[in-house]
Amino acid sequence: MKITGIMVYYYLVCKRKLWYFSKDITMEHNSELVEIGKILDEYSYDRRKKSILVKDIINVDFVEDWKIIHEIKKSKSIEEASIWQVKYYIYMLKKLGVEIEKGILDYPSIKEREVILFEEEDTREMENILEEIKNIIKSEKIPKDKLRKSICNKCAYYELCYI
Ligand code: SF4
Repeated sequence: MKITGIMVYYYLVCKRKLWYFSKDITMEHNSELVEIGKILDEYSYDRRKKSILVKDIINVDFVEDWKIIHEIKKSKSIEEASIWQVKYYIYMLKKLGVEIEKGILDYPSIKEREVILFEEEDTREMENILEEIKNIIKSEKIPKDKLRKSICNKCAYYELCYI
């Protein structure tokens, strides 16, 4: 079963969102916020950008000397999800024999960055997350808990959850 970085991200954002995404129900192109994210991605790091895609699972915005990976985000609003997405890339690259020293979350719109390390004790949490993701994407039933409506307003799946 293929688990991508974006699935790890969605798992921590909203389990229903992960479920929709895993069933190929993609409405993200309709979301203005996603469009803004893409524009930031395209223009902020042009000169240094060397994005890498490994086995359709790891999709890193850019990598420095195969030691430091960067993930570009537009805001810190769902920081926990971004942190675990980067930890997942470090974890998976390590499994493939690439020792990454650290990840960096870049927030170009607010000119901030955050260093992410994969600590020994993260392994158990990572494996729990991956196990739960597998259960969600295997299930025919959508997870029942929705987020607060004020948060859902910005989600591309809003109409599927609320109308
Ligand atoms: S609308 Fe809310 S509950 Fe539904 S997928 Fe989006 S964030 Fe999750």
